[in-house]
Amino acid sequence: MQTINHPVVIGGGPVGLVLALSLQQSAVPVTVLEAQSHGAMYGDGRALALSYGTRQVLEQLGVWTLLENSVTAIETIHVSQQKGFGRTVLKAQEHDLPALGYVVSYGALMQALDARIAQSPAGITLHDQVPVTALDVHATAAEVEYQSADGAVQKLSTPLAVIADGGRSLESIPGLVRETKHYGHDALVGLVQTEQPHRNIAYERFTPFGPMALLPNGQQFSLVWTGEQVYLDEIAGLDDDAFLQALHAAFGDRVGKFLHAGKRFRFPLKLSKLGQTFAAHCVVIGNAAQTMHPVAGQGFNVGIRDAVALAANVAATQDSEWGAAHRLAEYHQSRQRDTGRGLQFTDFLVNVFSNDLVGVGLLRGAGLGALSLLPMARRYLVNKMSYGS
Ligand SMILES: Cc1cc2nc3c(=O)[nH]c(=O)nc-3n(C[C@H](O)[C@H](O)[C@H](O)COP(=O)(O)OP(=O)(O)OC[C@H]3O[C@@H](n4cnc5c(N)ncnc54)[C@H](O)[C@@H]3O)c2cc1C
Repeated sequence: MQTINHPVVIGGGPVGLVLALSLQQSAVPVTVLEAQSHGAMYGDGRALALSYGTRQVLEQLGVWTLLENSVTAIETIHVSQQKGFGRTVLKAQEHDLPALGYVVSYGALMQALDARIAQSPAGITLHDQVPVTALDVHATAAEVEYQSADGAVQKLSTPLAVIADGGRSLESIPGLVRETKHYGHDALVGLVQTEQPHRNIAYERFTPFGPMALLPNGQQFSLVWTGEQVYLDEIAGLDDDAFLQALHAAFGDRVGKFLHAGKRFRFPLKLSKLGQTFAAHCVVIGNAAQTMHPVAGQGFNVGIRDAVALAANVAATQDSEWGAAHRLAEYHQSRQRDTGRGLQFTDFLVNVFSNDLVGVGLLRGAGLGALSLLPMARRYLVNKMSYGS
């Protein structure tokens, strides 16, 4: 068994790498264990809407300059519902922000994070292709079992194991209880070309089948089309022409005709959360701690705030106390409000806006109408989406 005297991060996705860079800034050494090979996620088809607060974090970490050419600013957000009245429009200039958010592909974000670590690797030890297979927590340390590149099983012990695996593999973590709600919905994502240019407008449209979004991305839009799995099976099975027509029918005329669709990707959607995100010598962050529906583009924006808060907590803790339950409890407490609100907000939107009951449609139309008339409510919403709770 190898003994490592500093934090070990399980999962080198965007949240794990932001944590590594944040710890580096505080001169805390860190080891990252990533299951996949270097660059394996560069082709991930999902687009992420980054909040203004996320941009500020990436700027501080020296990542934003490496990403800048790959992002598209969202200057306006247009929210509407299919088969219903009421809509609202949010504009960056009304809120004294340069943009309401920024769209970037998951792959481009991963490339920029990798490039930043390659530029300045001091203190970060990154191992690829080493899936963690088990985690055990003891009174004095966490024991992490992983498979090395040659297939051999290895073990290490660390005062603090940070689980940032996106909830993809370590379903059960000793001592922590997970609550999961399967929406039975998937997201179908991909790039689409429209007749009209995007003019930096992001569209969020609520349909009885589920929310859909068009996010400006380069010269095209990134589509996020969510709905029940059987409904999306039908859509995914269509040839390109029929797919573009179905998209037009669901989305309406706001961007003209849909001219071209690129490769489509599917993601299952769920709400998943841990009642408590820590045990002694172990803490869970990012999607592994809370997975939410992508309806309001919150998941990574919440996860990056986890990473920053945990790095600050670790940096303010004596080395001899890394992994101490009372310190991790403070971290957990500091994140409850923000993560809880993110989960509630996205779940509320899915339930209320994807409901075809008579009356609910009228109510949400009235809600959207009211939002468009109330500058204070809009400011509150934009602030929450930019910086969290
Ligand atoms: C369709 C869709 C659209 C989205 N849109 C947005 C958006 O607009 N804005 C937003 O903020 N969020 C959005 N999200 C959410 C966002 O993708 C996640 O919140 C974010 O990817 C979480 O990052 P993470 O690092 O916690 O997890 P992940 O991105 O899942 O990364 C986890 C990493 O851990 C590695 N790993 C897994 N198991 C192991 C193991 N056993 N050992 C070692 N490594 C392991 C994986 O290979 C991966 O690299 C969207 C999600 C989806 C599905």
